[in-house]
This record gives sequence, C-alpha cells and structure tokens, in this order.
Amino acid sequence: MAKRKANLPTNKRESKRITLRTCIACRKKLPKKEMVRFVLRQSKQLAIDESGKSGGRGVNLCASASCFEDAVERGSFNRAWKTNVDVSDRDKIEEELEKLIEQRAFRKGERSVTFRVDKTVAEEITGKAVTKQPATI
Ligand SMILES: [Zn+2]
Repeated sequence: MAKRKANLPTNKRESKRITLRTCIACRKKLPKKEMVRFVLRQSKQLAIDESGKSGGRGVNLCASASCFEDAVERGSFNRAWKTNVDVSDRDKIEEELEKLIEQRAFRKGERSVTFRVDKTVAEEITGKAVTKQPATI
C-alpha cells in the first residue's frame, strides 16, 4: 500500500499558495501583489487600479515603467482588451506608476527592516523606557 501523504491542514496550504499573474509586456509571471493592475475606464481610457479591486477585466504589468512603455508601444493593452485603448494619458499614468513603485518600495522597507540597538539608544530614539534587550524599534 502506498504511503499516505502527510495530511496538512488545508488552511496551512492555502496560506502558502501565491497567486501568479503574467505581465502583458514581458510575459514574466510574478505574485499578484508585486504587479500593477490596469483597468479600462468606460471612456476606454487606461487607468491604474491601485487597490487591485476595481471591477471589470484588469490586466497586469510588472511594477516597472519599462514594461508599461513596452505595453503601450506594442499595443499590448489593445490586444488584452480587444479594443482601441486610449493611451493619451500615458505620461500621467507613467508618473502615477512611478509614484506607486516608490510607495511600494518604501512600504516593503518599513516592514522588513528591524533595528536592533542598545537599550539606551532605543530609549533616546523612542523617548520611552525600554525594558527588552536587545531592543527592537
Ligand atoms: Zn513585465
């Protein structure tokens, strides 16, 4: 009789599953969270969907200005939505995109960087009494 696979709790497996999306410009597959979703407005104007939750069909791109440029140049948006997408706002969108990329990089840093410093230094910085050693701020 074949060995049974370990019965992992379902929720444990679920939490490890990462949703991958394909960039319409370079075809790279990346986790959804690392991509930027674009949506098509009623007016057929292209827009960034920052929340990733706007209704309608969205397309995904790497969080990179070059992929955005490629997608515009090669008509990838037109192909994705099978229509003539209005990209007259491309400069504005690219600006928004760059801001979004910066914000994300900042947030990422904020989460992953931990400073371990001496207790007295931590107290100086935070202005609070620190009881734990080493202190994490
Ligand atoms: Zn890409």
